[in-house]
Amino acid sequence: MSDTQTREIILQGIGAAPGICVGKAYLVDKEGVNVVRRYAVPEDLLQNEKNRFRTAVKKAREELIKIISESSKEFQEHTNILETHLILLKDKMLYDKIIENIEQDKINAEWALKKVVSNLQSVFKNMSDPYFRERASDIVHVADRIMRNLTGAGTVDIKGITKRVILVAADLSPADTSQIQLENIMGFITDRGGITSHTGIIARTLEIPAVLGLEHSTHVIRNDDIIVVDGSSGEVIVHPSEETLVKFVKRRLKYEAFRAAILKGSHFPAKTIDGVTVSIMGNIELPEEVVSVRDNGGDGIGLYRTEFQYMSRLVFPNESELFDKYRDVIEVMSPKPVTIRTLDINGDKAISDSRHDDEENPALGLRGIRYCLKKPDIFKTQLRAILRAAAFGNVRVMFPMICCFGEILAAKQMFREAAGALEKEGARLNREIEIGIMIEVPSAVVIADLMAEEVDFFSIGTNDLIQYSLAIDRGNKYTSHLYHPLHPAIIRMLKQVSDVAKEKKIKLFMCGEMAGDPFNLPILLALGIDELSMNPQSIPVIKRMIRSLKAADTEMLLKEILKQKTSSDIMELLNNAYGDLVSEVMNGQMAVSSANQRAIQS
Ligand code: PEP
Ligand code: MG
Repeated sequence: MSDTQTREIILQGIGAAPGICVGKAYLVDKEGVNVVRRYAVPEDLLQNEKNRFRTAVKKAREELIKIISESSKEFQEHTNILETHLILLKDKMLYDKIIENIEQDKINAEWALKKVVSNLQSVFKNMSDPYFRERASDIVHVADRIMRNLTGAGTVDIKGITKRVILVAADLSPADTSQIQLENIMGFITDRGGITSHTGIIARTLEIPAVLGLEHSTHVIRNDDIIVVDGSSGEVIVHPSEETLVKFVKRRLKYEAFRAAILKGSHFPAKTIDGVTVSIMGNIELPEEVVSVRDNGGDGIGLYRTEFQYMSRLVFPNESELFDKYRDVIEVMSPKPVTIRTLDINGDKAISDSRHDDEENPALGLRGIRYCLKKPDIFKTQLRAILRAAAFGNVRVMFPMICCFGEILAAKQMFREAAGALEKEGARLNREIEIGIMIEVPSAVVIADLMAEEVDFFSIGTNDLIQYSLAIDRGNKYTSHLYHPLHPAIIRMLKQVSDVAKEKKIKLFMCGEMAGDPFNLPILLALGIDELSMNPQSIPVIKRMIRSLKAADTEMLLKEILKQKTSSDIMELLNNAYGDLVSEVMNGQMAVSSANQRAIQS
């Protein structure tokens, strides 16, 4: 081997699932189907092309059904992604368009497929929301399966891999990932994909290290090359030197010891040295993430971002589908609480059906509760599903993006109407559930005292509160250095909301990213927040940190913090008082949080 082949190469991607593995690379060849264009296909042969296409789709459908029915225990929660692929196979934008293209342009099926998919891809890729942009990959996965059936290229057999390897691929579809056998596949890396791709979500659930978005790994890495994958830092080392190997093996041992130790205490309550208990909850975006909240010791779900169930598909879910999903989550968590946030679409989470292209400023547009109040049918469908599911456990409902008092009254009115209608129908429901609002717009902070009269709890959404208070688009990379949770204005707002909650005797929660960072914890503790909700993987760290704190000390520090003029001053105070404790609790590890990275990336 020449020197260039064995020289150590460091690749940097996006750490999608934490953990470290070292092993041999196994290249999954998913590229290279050569598509030939045949045009001016004679009229009598066009029927043949259409039939070839229909047969390829039928075969793809049968393959997907087989994969779903044979999916392993770990993957079963993700079969909805494959079901989405089943729906996509017959979607008008894809299926009908391809038939139409074969007929009108008189071209072969492969070329029509390639053309239609590339058009659809550019439509999806131009969408502003990163989550939805990545849904372009669902179309590519579906098309890839049809194309392989058309060309007879054969599919990738990940299930058939019998040696211990690390998968290296340009991309892995959810169907490919579903075939991963944990006893053989140590981890995987891909050139495409981001933190919010389904592949990343699945990797986190399977709890195997994964790095995505590497761009060139399939060109650099060959079969059987030794590689190191660090799913926390996003590093991939090809041909590691002895020294690097020793470094990463040590890092892995440290990470494993850290997770094992931190998980041990995570099922006990988070109680400070002086006896103050805080509930530590999980944020979920998809129902299947509930398992991760439970396994990491979450005391409940503090934020169920229901909009993601509307995003990975082309048609909005109906009441019975929503009910089934909510009920699953509620039953897994029962008797612990599940806080279901009603649809918070648009803004940075646009959906094709709900999108208004003429909105110049979508973050200030028809999003969250504003959208729901304008679309009572969509809102009531969701409220009915929540009310019915609430009969199966401990549920709360929460409205997002509230900025006016009237919005609370209108939303509660719809809630009552939905409950009344269900009662008339004789349905099983529970309407005696707590109702709360997100505090994520500055106007809600200012009139929090008025709003408190109408609700059982507040949940502070710092992601948006910071965006709207500091006039910093959370999706703008040029201003990300100004996006600061420890800005004195933010801390003062938190204090104001906390004072109101105490005075009005309502519960106070926080579910923005600020809640999952141990560095912020002394302030949140001092504010007397009852529940902190975060990415499930951050739960053990935050619980451990709480056990090392004395609430009374943090209250004294908060008094000092409230006098500071800049974020840096506040950081310095925190660092002097608790910097060492944070490093000790974190044991030098990075906690990977999907929501955190989404916020950073977006
Ligand atoms: C927030 O704004 O802090 C929040 C939790 O909601 P989202 O991130 O979904 O906008
Ligand atoms: Mg928000």
